Amino acid sequence: MSVIDELVGANRAATESGGAGTASVPGKPTRSVAVVTCMDCRINVEQVLGLGPGEAHVLRNAGGVVTDDVIRSLALSQHKLGTREVMLIHHDKCGMTTVTDDGFRAELQEATGVAPAFAIESFADVEADVRQSIERVRRSAFIAHRDAVRGFVFDVDTGALREVAAAAGGDPDRVGADAQPPGEEVV
Ligand code: ZN
Repeated sequence: MSVIDELVGANRAATESGGAGTASVPGKPTRSVAVVTCMDCRINVEQVLGLGPGEAHVLRNAGGVVTDDVIRSLALSQHKLGTREVMLIHHDKCGMTTVTDDGFRAELQEATGVAPAFAIESFADVEADVRQSIERVRRSAFIAHRDAVRGFVFDVDTGALREVAAAAGGDPDRVGADAQPPGEEVV
């Protein structure tokens, strides 16, 4: 039995016990917030932030990077589903700090014969990448509410968040370690 078979079985059990339905949960996030974070399995977003079903949009990818596709989802989240705040969460010990764009691109090309067209979006400095992500959201014309964007780093050991101050005048095309000095920690 594959893991997916196990998950389907778990769904069947949950449905039979009446615990899987969301008919009473609204489709618009009741707390009007979107959270962008890494896919890292150590981050239980709902538990970490005290979120319940129906309260927030949670967007995840490798690194919690603000890609064009994240901007697409945030545009829909704000314009169609009423969210107004964006919370960006990167984390310590992220796998994206263990690869480089050139290295992973070469690895994929060697394994498959094709170089990927997408950006790898690795980073060496987590705080700098949070600032980069804040700037990408703030500079996107497709985001309706750009004033309420805040960025954080999640400590996977303690579960605590620390806030990263936005760059005063960063360039969104500059990526990673060469960007700005470390941010102010306020959380
Ligand atoms: Zn990560």
